[in-house]
Amino acid sequence: MTDRVCENCAFPDEELVLVRRVYLTPEAWDRPASAQVVEEAELWCVSCRSQYPHEAVDDDD
Ligand SMILES: [Zn+2]
Repeated sequence: MTDRVCENCAFPDEELVLVRRVYLTPEAWDRPASAQVVEEAELWCVSCRSQYPHEAVDDDD
């Protein structure tokens, strides 16, 4: 039994991992491609981690 759900898709999962979402901006005529990392970390399920760009959060525990 778990009350933990993915903070991205709300799917209940015991294998949630703390990540930071990364927003990718494609290259355009007036700027290069870039990636912006969201400051606040979220718990994501394996499905979201396989589908969306993100960055692992170092956990000292
Ligand atoms: Zn998810």
